[in-house]
Amino acid sequence: MPEGTLYDALARAAHAKPSHPATVFYGASLSYAGLRDRVDAMAGFLQGVCGVARGDRVMIALQNSPQYVIAYYAVMRADAVIVPVNPMNKTAEIAYLAADSGARVAIIGCELSDVFAPLAGEAITHTIVAQYRDEVPAATPYTLPSCVTEAPSEVPSSPGWHSWPAAIAQGLQPDAMEAGPDDLMILPYTSGTTGKPKACMHTHRSALFTAVLQARWYGLDGSDVMTGFMPLFHVAGMQGSMNAAIVTGATLLLMARWDKDLLPDLFETYGVTFWNAAPTMIVDVLASASFRDKCFAKLKVLTGGGAAMPTAVAERLKARFGLDFVEGYGMTETMSPTHLNPMAAPKRQCLGIAVQETDARVVDSESLIELDDNVVGEIVVHGPQVLQGYWNRPQADADAFIQLDGKRFLRTGDLGYRDAEGYFFAVDRLKRMINVSGFKVWPAEVEAAMYQNRAVRECCIVSAPDEYRGETVKALVVLDEAARATTSAADIVGWARGAMASYKAPRAVVFVESLPRTASNKINWRLLQDAEWGRTA
Ligand code: ATP
Ligand code: MG
Repeated sequence: MPEGTLYDALARAAHAKPSHPATVFYGASLSYAGLRDRVDAMAGFLQGVCGVARGDRVMIALQNSPQYVIAYYAVMRADAVIVPVNPMNKTAEIAYLAADSGARVAIIGCELSDVFAPLAGEAITHTIVAQYRDEVPAATPYTLPSCVTEAPSEVPSSPGWHSWPAAIAQGLQPDAMEAGPDDLMILPYTSGTTGKPKACMHTHRSALFTAVLQARWYGLDGSDVMTGFMPLFHVAGMQGSMNAAIVTGATLLLMARWDKDLLPDLFETYGVTFWNAAPTMIVDVLASASFRDKCFAKLKVLTGGGAAMPTAVAERLKARFGLDFVEGYGMTETMSPTHLNPMAAPKRQCLGIAVQETDARVVDSESLIELDDNVVGEIVVHGPQVLQGYWNRPQADADAFIQLDGKRFLRTGDLGYRDAEGYFFAVDRLKRMINVSGFKVWPAEVEAAMYQNRAVRECCIVSAPDEYRGETVKALVVLDEAARATTSAADIVGWARGAMASYKAPRAVVFVESLPRTASNKINWRLLQDAEWGRTA
């Protein structure tokens, strides 16, 4: 694996092919030299005007955009630590992240001005405000999301607030970069479905490792056109799209917010070769009639993860477009993948094999003793991509790590097994088990079975209270358009009883128009389950 930092990779690409497009955003492209120059100017501004010093934390709260890429590399170039923030967060959540990370400087999108305003001058001393419209051509043929069109155009004239173009225009040069592979580079937060979000400490080595790893695994090079549709604040989009593109000098096609209607045109116009997708994006594509085979004519790699890709959905995709979904597995704690499926021999609904320099085992989740092949237990991982620890959370560290053969392994909280060929399969998250009169039901397994019914477009299994059994299995189902008039909930309940063991089969089926998703496009099962139990977030 290469040494150095991601910034070194950007500088190399800018030197080798200055005019090659680094990003494309609703029809506008930004070259590698242009990207590097703006990164340097923003880094100079962070140091010279905002007083950012080595190791300081800087928040980035932007939608996917060229400014996101610039801000990310600028914080790195300034020897500071990136704190990526979900742009859907509200003031209280941002206040928590600022206090927890100690960030005093923020780079934000204009649509978040109101969210950050109450913190200005208090928690946050400098706020740089970007306007996505600045990077969109006046005559763009694309429909822009509301975060682009409806954002206020004025930067509040409060002390410590700066407009992005003015910051870049100063052209300040940063000091020589000092950070090396073992220095802290980024503090991505876990989604926080299991308590307050925790920041994962990742070094330059860890970030460079999974970016280069994916680029090599998929055989990417500078001629590739890669999607940047997964949110860049989340490790899946950050590593599998943005940083994998930069380390190969490829072109990153950005979308501020996921919009399936833009896909056919974008794929054909730009000849997309690599698509990093969430399984829900594939469900969206299969539900749409506007895709023609030629949309995917240049696509070489379709990969993704973050949640299980049900076999039945993968097979529908194969039958309709001839595409194979090559799954991977990772988490915020590992800066994305620890496992990937080999392109030549992918398996269905499979996490893949442990990637290079990575050791993955399966242990009993109580005794922590290692288990044999094909025995289900908790997956634990060791490798250069595993976090150094949680930021300021000694107790979380104590709970998360175990020692095996003298090496430190991270407990993933995921249940699964390894087959004799070294492929890993997930059963579900440990925390998602439903206990039906003592029988253990794993929602992911039930969901995979439910997708075999052609009437089911999308499905989420939750636990619901049951006076007799304690808990019961409930299915929330989005019906396929064609099945709406002819399918009843009782039909699905009856079908499910024949398709799986009766204790697993949902006793209640409710039809819904859509399922809520997290910012990283996962079905938000936790929200739906809490609603069943009358809990609010
Ligand atoms: P939180 O930790 O705050 O509850 P989260 O675990 O969803 O949120 P991420 O780090 O984004 O946050 O997701 C990692 C998790 O996603 C894994 O632990 C695993 O449960 C799930 N996952 C990732 N890839 C796959 C996959 N290919 N198949 C099944 N599950 C997957
Ligand atoms: Mg997690």
